[in-house]
Amino acid sequence: LGERLEGALSRIRGKTRLTQADVDEALAEIRRALLEADVNIGVVNLISERVGVAAVGAMASPSLTPGQQVVKAVHNELIDVLGQDTYRIRFASTPPTILLLAGLQGSGKTTAAAKLALLLRRQGRSPYLIAADLARPGAVRQLEILGEQAGVPVFSEPTTPVEVATKGVAEARRLARDVVIIDTAGRLAIDDALMNEVSEIQKATQAHLRFLVVDAMIGQDAVVTARAFDERLELSAVILTKLDGDARGGAALSVKEVVGKPIAFASVGEKLEDFEPFYPDRMASRILGMGDVLSLIERAQDTMDEDVAKKGADRLRTGHFDLEDFLEQLRQVRKMGPLKGVLSMLPGVPKELKNQDIDEGEISRIEAIVSSMTKAERKNPSIIDVSRRARIASGSGTTQLQVNTLLKQFRDMNKMMRQMGVGPPSATRSRAKS
Ligand code: GDP
Ligand code: MG
Repeated sequence: LGERLEGALSRIRGKTRLTQADVDEALAEIRRALLEADVNIGVVNLISERVGVAAVGAMASPSLTPGQQVVKAVHNELIDVLGQDTYRIRFASTPPTILLLAGLQGSGKTTAAAKLALLLRRQGRSPYLIAADLARPGAVRQLEILGEQAGVPVFSEPTTPVEVATKGVAEARRLARDVVIIDTAGRLAIDDALMNEVSEIQKATQAHLRFLVVDAMIGQDAVVTARAFDERLELSAVILTKLDGDARGGAALSVKEVVGKPIAFASVGEKLEDFEPFYPDRMASRILGMGDVLSLIERAQDTMDEDVAKKGADRLRTGHFDLEDFLEQLRQVRKMGPLKGVLSMLPGVPKELKNQDIDEGEISRIEAIVSSMTKAERKNPSIIDVSRRARIASGSGTTQLQVNTLLKQFRDMNKMMRQMGVGPPSATRSRAKS
């Protein structure tokens, strides 16, 4: 999805003027991308309708480029659908708060039970786990092991699920534990036996909160599953699992919009710590698959002088980029914050590069060297002879070698640009039909 959407949006992102045709084309791509990501058709319609309206507005607005506005509009709509706020557990006024986890087999219930227990324990609560899945061999043992890793006691007994659950709650009360998490059995598909068992546990324990655990990979089926469980349990919220895989996240959008249940937590890996509150804005970015482009746009909007940026790009293209331009551009980018932060927000930047430590000191040194040059030197570095070089070095607190290195790098860069015959990238891209 990410790539597709990125493609669709990149075509319009850089444009300074949008035509109705541009908007229509972008919207069609956005629709296809969302459908591909398993977003429910009703939700897709809703989003593209709202984005369409926003985009038409963007055609008139001068502040951001219209392309940026469309990107932003899509992001905003996604957040809107996902829900603005992060979920908060409402603890019962008389402890223990009883929490029931339900879901299909393999969705990640047992893992989520332990992860949630660990999270709560770290928040200063005293959770208690109940192993009420007696259907799958080894399920009790699995929870016991995970509970031990999480430092949370586990209650189990080889009786019936309902009995284990009720006795476990009583035991939690006796031990003055304040949150009880009940792990239940799942089936490969929704059937009466499964539904009856879990709703009987619910009736017997009167769980305050009923969480449905959903594997993010199941996409559209999430809606069907959520509806079925909601009918029997009156779900409180959803826990979305396996978001570390290449799940598209469409499930999240659909469950929230169609079933109307908030997504409370996200499970993002196999380790117990890989569990976090669900952040709608992060999910929206994930669905858009474009890194944190929006924050970047916002920051750029605040700090970038569009004229300066454009002038630099033009001069680069025409081979007239000198050190004066370089300094101007460098200062623009630096205004946006530490380079590492800026880089990490860019889509398509390889992970290795994002994680690499950028030597901010090096950047500062470069800025100092170029600042110590006269305007004439920046326009025409070839006039920099030995004595000028010595002056620049002492003025910038660097060595002559460092000044030389920079000049050489700059020459190489210019040569490379000329060889590549850098043309206006936006023009070639917008002409290419997909
Ligand atoms: P249950 O049948 O619903 O209780 O599911 P389990 O908790 O036993 O999980 C099924 C499998 O999915 C196990 O191998 C888990 O390690 C794995 N799993 C659960 N949650 C996640 C997750 O967020 N990410 C990844 N990668 N694997 C998960
Ligand atoms: Mg299980």
